[in-house]
Amino acid sequence: MHHFAYRGGVLHAEDVSLDAIASEVGTPFYCYSTATLTRHYKVFAEAFSSADALVCYSIKANSNIAVLKTLGNLGSGMDVVSEGELRRARAAGVAPEKIVFSGVGKTRDEMTYALKEGIYAFNVESEAELAALNDVACQAGVSARVAYRVNPDIDPKTHKKISTGKAEDKFGVPYDRARGLYREAANLPGINPCGIHMHIGSQITKLEPFGDAFALLRELAGQLMQDGLTLEFINFGGGLGVPYKADDPVPPHPDEYAAIVLAAAKDLNVKLLFEPGRMIAANAGILVTRVLYTKTGAAQSFTIVDAAMNDLIRPTLYEAWHDIIPVEERLVDTPGHLTDVVGPVCETGDYLALARKLPDYSSGDLMAILTAGAYGAAQSSTYNTRPLIPEVLVNGADYGVIRPRPSYDEMLGRDTLPDWL
Ligand SMILES: *Cc1c(COP(=O)(O)O)cnc(C)c1O
Repeated sequence: MHHFAYRGGVLHAEDVSLDAIASEVGTPFYCYSTATLTRHYKVFAEAFSSADALVCYSIKANSNIAVLKTLGNLGSGMDVVSEGELRRARAAGVAPEKIVFSGVGKTRDEMTYALKEGIYAFNVESEAELAALNDVACQAGVSARVAYRVNPDIDPKTHKKISTGKAEDKFGVPYDRARGLYREAANLPGINPCGIHMHIGSQITKLEPFGDAFALLRELAGQLMQDGLTLEFINFGGGLGVPYKADDPVPPHPDEYAAIVLAAAKDLNVKLLFEPGRMIAANAGILVTRVLYTKTGAAQSFTIVDAAMNDLIRPTLYEAWHDIIPVEERLVDTPGHLTDVVGPVCETGDYLALARKLPDYSSGDLMAILTAGAYGAAQSSTYNTRPLIPEVLVNGADYGVIRPRPSYDEMLGRDTLPDWL
């Protein structure tokens, strides 16, 4: 469900024409819909309205401060994976007691900063990291609230680059060792092991892997309570998938997911935490790009557009599919043909779609790459010295540029010359 639709023959984001935004800010650009972000957050949060729950939006999916503030104003907490993301959450006005800190490689400096801010909890991924956190906390004279991230060795049946809960993945501590690790953690003066965390992967479109994983969480919670631990929360991670193709099977509704979670947490009397990223942001954003040229190669038709892999790397990195539609509705009815949609970057891997049946675009036409609100702008780079593209947030009939396109002077000005040059 999203708020991008044709009105009077032109694709709109809520009440704003994308053609109008393109004229004002230039192409390519990302455009996000406030109504869609809000709807997704609410559908998820409301699925847990009967429980003591905290939804911590996973910032890495889309970290623009205006997006964070939109969600923060609805009551969302945040899941961060770096000091930079923690600073973004704080800049968006999110209270520290609604922030959790994930990631396999937090540095001592990052830990110190997060303890000073007073975040809700750290998701710790190894004994070595726990020892470092214990040191840092003791030095600061505080106790760090911790959940071990437990790796259940479950195949989430998603792309291999976004599976995180299999034994061979770098994430978490092995399920079989978790009970012993908690016993040891309880003896560390700077550590308060008061939660359990699990996040088995992303773009998960079936409920079974969640069900299997959450059954193990419940079992571990019971064991830890038997061992005398005061368990305050269970963090179920993120990972709920979204439809990328119009004819994709619909991923599980948050209500179905909630039923599994609530069964796993029944009578445990703990706070429930969640870290959804993609399901909040993906469908709330599109990438608008302009066709530069079309050409027919020896074997292939190419549609060359002004966006590229540095702006949206998901097709290249994850072999991801994004639906592509024209901004001008009249193109929908052209005969169409098979084409590769490629960008200007000097890499064969620079494409947004391969052998895709699309309408007949000409130079100057605008296309919208859908479901680009998560892991789009956040993963973009300046490869080929291409400026990061602007981000625009629409809210009803209003829109604002929430990250302007940098000038070439700003880009080049970041390089400095040593004194011998
Ligand atoms: C990336 C990540 C998430 C969010 O995953 P989505 O699939 O976007 O919901 C949640 N928790 C952790 C620890 C992550 O690394």
